[in-house]
Amino acid sequence: MRGLLTLKDLSCDKIIELIKYAIKLKKGFRISYPDKKIATLFFENSTRTQYSFQCALMNLGIKVIDFDTQLSSIAKGESLYDTVRTFEALGVDGVVIRHSKDRYFDELENIKIPIFNGGDGKANHPTQSLLDLMTIYEEFGKFDGLKCCIVGDISHSRVAHTNIEVMQRLGMDVYISGPEEFNDNSAKWIPFDDAISQMDVIMLLRVQFERHKEKMKMSVEEYHEKYGMTSKRVEKMKENAIIMHPAPINRGVEIADEVAECEKSRIYKQMTNGVYIRMAVISDALDGNL
Ligand code: ASP
Repeated sequence: MRGLLTLKDLSCDKIIELIKYAIKLKKGFRISYPDKKIATLFFENSTRTQYSFQCALMNLGIKVIDFDTQLSSIAKGESLYDTVRTFEALGVDGVVIRHSKDRYFDELENIKIPIFNGGDGKANHPTQSLLDLMTIYEEFGKFDGLKCCIVGDISHSRVAHTNIEVMQRLGMDVYISGPEEFNDNSAKWIPFDDAISQMDVIMLLRVQFERHKEKMKMSVEEYHEKYGMTSKRVEKMKENAIIMHPAPINRGVEIADEVAECEKSRIYKQMTNGVYIRMAVISDALDGNL
C-alpha cells in the first residue's frame, strides 16, 4: 500500500531523510502540486492532526476535500473500504484517515492511491512520531544515546506505542512511567520522580478516558500530584532537557498550567513542526517515493 500507514515500514535512513526534508521546508523551500486533490477523513475527534494535515496540503497547493462523516453515506451504512474506493474512483489523489479501529487500513489493501494514517486506535500515529522526532532532532542534532521517558496512559496511547518502537530503533534509551494500571511493559519502567532528573526528553501523555473500559483507579487530583509535570519537578530536570506532549493537554492533570508554556516546553513547536513533517510526507508520496 502507498502513503504512510505505520513507521515500522520506514527504515531509520528514510525517517532521517523525511525529517531533513521537513526542516528544509520549514526554512522556506517550496514545492507545489496544484493539480492534486486530497481528502481528509476523520472518524475520531482531532484538532491538530486534522488541521495540520489541511495546512500542509494548502501549503503544497493541493486542494483539500474535508469529508464530513456525519453527512456522508457512512451514516447509511457504507463501509470504510467503499468510502475510500469511491474517493479513488472520483479521481482523488490521496486520503488522510483517522479511525478508532487498530489497523483499520488492513481492509484497504486494494486501494491504489496513497493513504496517510492520521491515527488508528491504540496502535499507530506515524506523523505524530515523525514530528516528535523532528523536534528532538532540531533540539539535540541526534537520537543515539538520548534518554526519553514517556509518562502516563501508555497502554491506550498510539503515540507511546509508535514512539517506543521507532525511538529504540534510532538508538534512544526509552523508558515508560505513570500509574501501574497503564504499564503494558512496552519499554523499561522507571519511577516518575527518578526519571525527571535523568532524562533528556520527558514526554507526557493525556489520559485516554475515551478508550478506557474501566474507570481510572485514581482521581485526576491524585494523578497530578503523583505524575503531573509541576514547576517543582521542572526544576529537577537536566539543564538542556525538554518537555513534550502530543496534545490535547489537560492543564492541571498531566501538566501544570504554568509548565505548558515554560522555557523547557516544546509543545507548541511540536505543533508547528507537524505541518512541515506532513508536507514532507505528502510531497514524498506524490513524488512516488512512499
Ligand atoms: N492527539 C494524540 C492522538 O491522537 C494524543 C491524544 O489524543 O491524547 O493520539
